[in-house]
This record gives sequence, C-alpha cells and structure tokens, in this order.
Amino acid sequence: MTMHDVGLPARDDLSPSRAEVYARVHAFDRPTLVLDVDRVEHNFDALQAGLGDAHIHYAVKANPAREIIERLVQVGSHFDAASRGEIELCLSQGARAETISFGNTVKRPSDIAFAYEAGVTLFAADAEEELQKIAENAPGAGVYIRLIVENSQADWPLSRKFGCHGEMALALLDRAKELGLDPAGFSFHVGSQTRRSEMWGPVLDQVLAVWAAAHEAGHKLRLLNIGGGFPAFYGEVIEPATAYAAGVMRQVRARFGDVLVMAEPGRGMVADAGVIAAEVLLVSRKSANELHRWVYLDIGKFSGLAETMDEAIRYQFATPRDHEAMGPCILAGPSCDSADVLYEKKMVSLPVGLTAGDRVVIRNCGAYTSSYSSVGFNGFPPLDVCVI
Ligand SMILES: *Cc1c(COP(=O)(O)O)cnc(C)c1O
Repeated sequence: MTMHDVGLPARDDLSPSRAEVYARVHAFDRPTLVLDVDRVEHNFDALQAGLGDAHIHYAVKANPAREIIERLVQVGSHFDAASRGEIELCLSQGARAETISFGNTVKRPSDIAFAYEAGVTLFAADAEEELQKIAENAPGAGVYIRLIVENSQADWPLSRKFGCHGEMALALLDRAKELGLDPAGFSFHVGSQTRRSEMWGPVLDQVLAVWAAAHEAGHKLRLLNIGGGFPAFYGEVIEPATAYAAGVMRQVRARFGDVLVMAEPGRGMVADAGVIAAEVLLVSRKSANELHRWVYLDIGKFSGLAETMDEAIRYQFATPRDHEAMGPCILAGPSCDSADVLYEKKMVSLPVGLTAGDRVVIRNCGAYTSSYSSVGFNGFPPLDVCVI
C-alpha cells in the first residue's frame, strides 16, 4: 500500500466500487458505462508514484470521455493521441500541445500539419514514408521509432501491425536526420494487459539490444517510450498499480540508466473506473436436457464488448442474485450476428435463477468499451456514457 491507496479499495477487491453501487441502483434505458473520474485520478497518482520521474501520456483511445481528459489535464497528465480528433479533444480540455505526443505510426498528412501548427512536437514513425510525411508537414519535429517486440506474454498482445525490426529502426534514425528531423529515441508496446511486471524483462532486453546498436552507430538517443500494458483486474490477480509501475521502472533503469522515459497507460488508467449496467434479455436452453443455459445480454461484441474476442479479456459480472445457486452459462450479445457470443469456450458462472429483465453489472469496464462501441451496429445504439 502507498499513501495513494489509503481509503480506497484495492484494485482486485470485489466489494462494489462507487461506480458499481451507482450502476446497481439507478435505472438506465440502454446499456450504460458508469465512470468514476475520481478513480481515474487515483489511478494516475498510483501509477505516477511507481513511475517516478517518467512522464505519463494517457493513451486516449482507451476511453476518450471528455471528463476523463479534463481531470487528467488537471492532475498534470500528458497524452498520447492517434488522430486529429483525439488531439482536438485534448486541446479542448486544456492540455498544452507540448504535452501531447502523436503516437500513431499511420498518420494522415493533414493531421500531421494540424498537430504541428497546434504545437505538437513529438511524433511516432516505423517507416520511411511516414518520416517523409512528418518532415514535410512538421519540419524539424522530434520523432521516435517504434520497434516490434516478440514474445509478448500479454493477454491482449498487439499484433505485428505496428513497429519495425532493429535494423530497419537504425536505418530510420539515419533517415530522420537526413530529413532534418530530430530522432529522439525508441518506443514499443509490451502488449496490453501484461499481468506481471517481470513479464517486461525479455521485451526490455530486445529493446536494449537495438538501443545499444543505435548508440554504437553514433545516435545519441535521449527518449524511451515504454508504451502501455499496465493491467486491470479481470479475475486473475495483478500487482497493485504502484508496485507494478515501480517494478517496470526498476527493470528500465537497470538497463537504460538515466534516460527520459515516457509511459502510455490506457487500460491501467481507466479500466477499474468504469462498470457497465446491462440487462438480461433472454435465458434459454437449446434442448430440455442440456445442462448449461444461454444468457443473452443487451450488450455484445458490437456495442462495447469487443475485447471478448477470442475470450481474451474475461470480464467479471455481478447480479442481484449472486447469493443464490450458480451454474454455467454461455453468454451472448443481442445482435443477429452469430459471432456475437461473448464467452462459450470457457463458460461464465451466473445465478441459476437469472431471468430476463435482471440487471447485470459488468466490472472493470472503463477501458476499450465506449471507444470500441461501433455506431448502431444492427440497429442497437452505441454504449451510452454517464459520468458520476
Ligand atoms: C493503445 C496504446 C496504448 C495503451 O495500451 P494499454 O495496454 O491500454 O495500456 C499505449 N500506446 C500506444 C501507442 C497504443 O496504441
């Protein structure tokens, strides 16, 4: 426990959070994400306590609620934005442009120009074409090169979509210089929901090898962007935020010494600040003697719960009948797409007496839900957001 944890429940404590209490007792006319921005502030403090002098750039895509950005500006967070829209959002809530990094490696040239005009000075790249775009639209800007890392032990590993291999990264540092840019360092992402801090070790070793090669090649790098990956509680024990962040930083400092470090937590900042209030639409069996039930909720893969894909992220559920007998269920969403099944390979245990109309609260849902909620798929409105 740090002083920041005093008076707040531990992150893996299953007693109801403030947002959960609110979601249990209020009526909503559609699935609603209830967000507690005080919890976001608490998470910022807890992460910062562990990260020490590293700068936190909140990954806006995890949850772009205006009130979250506003609160994070107030407490001194920096931001990682992926588009003009996210940059405008941060600026509109009072973020200073110098505190916003443009971390998407695939940028629209006009968005780069917009960011540069607004005062953003730091951009990500993993390809020569991207460096050319940055040089043309943000002359002289700082850039960091995103590295591909292998063997992520994360529950939600980031694919090979972003980053480049070491040799390419070194060539890109040279190219950035030729183009008049300021190559500041490297970034990587260890994979989202990396549950234990020691899982970072092998990934940091890979990054260190490229970092050392860059120094040998004469590049005086000053910035290491360690990305996100800070976990949330989804049923498996995780370290408290401060201990986790401190564990990561110990490993970073042991390898990279006194460099400037920035971190981009998304999930770890907002997941446990939100719960979803949902409702059971139908409980059924496919035949009379089948042991398990099908439970259909009014929220599914296409209206906020995209991270149930491959059952990678396992949300926790609370119902008013949790003191009754429990049994296994296949849990599905409401849309007419047969892929809209949330958990089937590993069933969910829910009260045997659960019936249509019952409230189901989904815990630790503040990250990657409202942002993934597609607009109106199959006629179901997107996830509503209610800040308390
Ligand atoms: C999504 C994203 C993050 C946030 O990752 P989490 O695992 O949610 O912490 C950080 N950095 C970049 C570049 C991202 O795209």
